[in-house]
Amino acid sequence: MIQKTMDLSLGKVKIQVGNKMISEEPIFFAGPCSVEDIDTMRKIAKELKELGVDVLRGGAFKPRTSPYDFQGLKEEGLEILKAIKQEFQMIISTEILDVRDLEKAKDVVDIIQIGSRNMYNYVLLEEAGKLGKPIILKRGFSATVNEWVSAAEYILNVGNDQVILCERGIRTFETTTRNTLDLNSVAYLKKNSRLPVIVDPSHGTGVRDLVKPMALAGVMAGADGLLIETHIDPDKASSDGHQTIDIKTLSEIMKNTNDIWGLR
Ligand code: PEP
Ligand code: MN
Repeated sequence: MIQKTMDLSLGKVKIQVGNKMISEEPIFFAGPCSVEDIDTMRKIAKELKELGVDVLRGGAFKPRTSPYDFQGLKEEGLEILKAIKQEFQMIISTEILDVRDLEKAKDVVDIIQIGSRNMYNYVLLEEAGKLGKPIILKRGFSATVNEWVSAAEYILNVGNDQVILCERGIRTFETTTRNTLDLNSVAYLKKNSRLPVIVDPSHGTGVRDLVKPMALAGVMAGADGLLIETHIDPDKASSDGHQTIDIKTLSEIMKNTNDIWGLR
């Protein structure tokens, strides 16, 4: 079967996010790992909007390794995202873990995130794809590039080509960092796929101090944008605080990204 994502003769897929066309300008997805309480989300959204972040991200449903860890605010988290969307007029992205939640989320979420653990959940990919909204498809942490691109095909095959691939690191023998951010995949996909690619250096490293260098390395590898866990007070984040950056660091990353964008 011809892989539509790889058939460059069909031309690059165009995805509009707000007033930006992906690949023409860098696109920034930022926000906390988990949706926080409404007051904290307001403070975060205000700062991110002022910085020019394109999409506010935050997980209402959290796929945690341990069932005893915080699982997200769930429906209440969606309500908070809805309120923030209305108040700040921001584009919202959140992860959907279960087909049963698509209906609840569909009026709030502008860009659906399919997480690393669900990359192989083909029923979820198809059902999410049918909503016709853009989808961030994170790379499974043990998936080859070919398996990842094949997963994207499931979404394309239901008639939705608005798929943004997100490299978020893979599991290797190396345990110094949480994952190994595979920037080869980014350079490769930019040359060989029709789909845009963004980089998540937060899960890719798991280490706050490594987020900025690896974000910028991702941009130099060809990423169309960045997805970065950001919080007004990273140490107080409900999850993944150790890899979450503050607003000042995000603003440096955005400035440096804009500076190096044309050098590639
Ligand atoms: C996330 O972006 O919050 C997340 C859970 O990411 P991943 O699926 O890449 O682990
Ligand atoms: Mn996280």
